[in-house]
Amino acid sequence: MSKPVPPLVPMSSPDLTDAERQAVMGVLQTPNLSMGPQIGKFEDAFCGYIGSKHAISVSSGTAGLHLCVRAAGIGPGDLVLTTPFSFVASTNVLLFEQAVPVFIDVDPLTGNMDPALTAQAARDLVAGGKAAQRWLPRTGAGTTGNLKAILGVDVFGQPADWDTLGATAREYGLGLIEDSCEALGAEYKGRKAGTLADSAVFAFYPNKQITTGEGGLIVTDNDQAALLMRALRNQGRAPGDTWLQHTHLGYNYRLDDLSAALGAAQMNRLEELLVKRETVAEWYRFRLTKIAGITVPFIDKTTTRVSWFVYVIRVDPGIDREALAQRLAERGIPVRPYFLPIHLQPYMVERFGYRSGDFPVTEDLGERGLALPFSGVMTEEQVELVCQTLEAVL
Ligand SMILES: *Cc1c(COP(=O)(O)O)cnc(C)c1O
Repeated sequence: MSKPVPPLVPMSSPDLTDAERQAVMGVLQTPNLSMGPQIGKFEDAFCGYIGSKHAISVSSGTAGLHLCVRAAGIGPGDLVLTTPFSFVASTNVLLFEQAVPVFIDVDPLTGNMDPALTAQAARDLVAGGKAAQRWLPRTGAGTTGNLKAILGVDVFGQPADWDTLGATAREYGLGLIEDSCEALGAEYKGRKAGTLADSAVFAFYPNKQITTGEGGLIVTDNDQAALLMRALRNQGRAPGDTWLQHTHLGYNYRLDDLSAALGAAQMNRLEELLVKRETVAEWYRFRLTKIAGITVPFIDKTTTRVSWFVYVIRVDPGIDREALAQRLAERGIPVRPYFLPIHLQPYMVERFGYRSGDFPVTEDLGERGLALPFSGVMTEEQVELVCQTLEAVL
């Protein structure tokens, strides 16, 4: 092992200005650090941007997804079709409610849930018996109940094929949840990510398109679901409950006002932030398409706008990704394998008995995907440095 080199380029960076700093400082001059006016301001900005009836800010993207699962009535033994090529939170929120994730392998080009396989799985699981068995995990599913929902993910800022997923959901009466935590600003056939399912979730960790430090937000047009999710984020207090009355089993999933003020200031700059990220992605694409041994991200024809979250290239089969990553790190270029498949995480293997080979497309992408340093504040010189180093090492 060679000695670690400090990175010459950060893996990711938030894009913050004095507007954000002043917004947070402004909150500190008030006593309203939580449940104050910044929450409504941040949520209204989302209703305006997404065009949704409701926006419910929460303490993280994971918390938001969990509330969507609760609001969809997903419970013990319920089957939910979802993707193994995602950040673990999209599956974990199902496990929180003792539901059973039924993994659907992904499209090899986009990395999004394969819509035809999703339809096939729904048909087989509703039919039951032997046809259903092939979709279920080897162990640990317990007594499985009904097929209840589809939880899809807009991977790397590119929407899944929601028209086809939605058709399957309608045909079998399933709930539809959009994990749009990587896709704020993306568009599918001209429609914004966040409007493509019954409810959708965004996330604001500092590597996302906008940040609140930690935070998340749910958008939905469903009045009843919104009412329930507002209660659940606030310790189960329904409208009319006093501070010590709790109609539901709830959580403290509230966002605080400092974070909301930061988020509202970032929302004012959203288009600028998205365009800067698009520019960096275009610098990469232009430079990397000339380099042999790697492939740049594929953009589906249904994607009318990518919201660049990460820049993940694929190394050709036969190239040793780990060695490549190691050599880049030695030269000050940090990179990450992206994603490690969910079904092969140790706790998933232990519980459900998954093995290599169970979801071959996901595994292939997981073995060949490499995220390069990426953010809206990267300069053209930094992109050039990454590309030059990559070219030299390859
Ligand atoms: C970031 C992300 C989340 C939520 O992350 P938090 O850290 O809980 O805000 C969920 N799903 C996906 C696909 C993500 O990328």
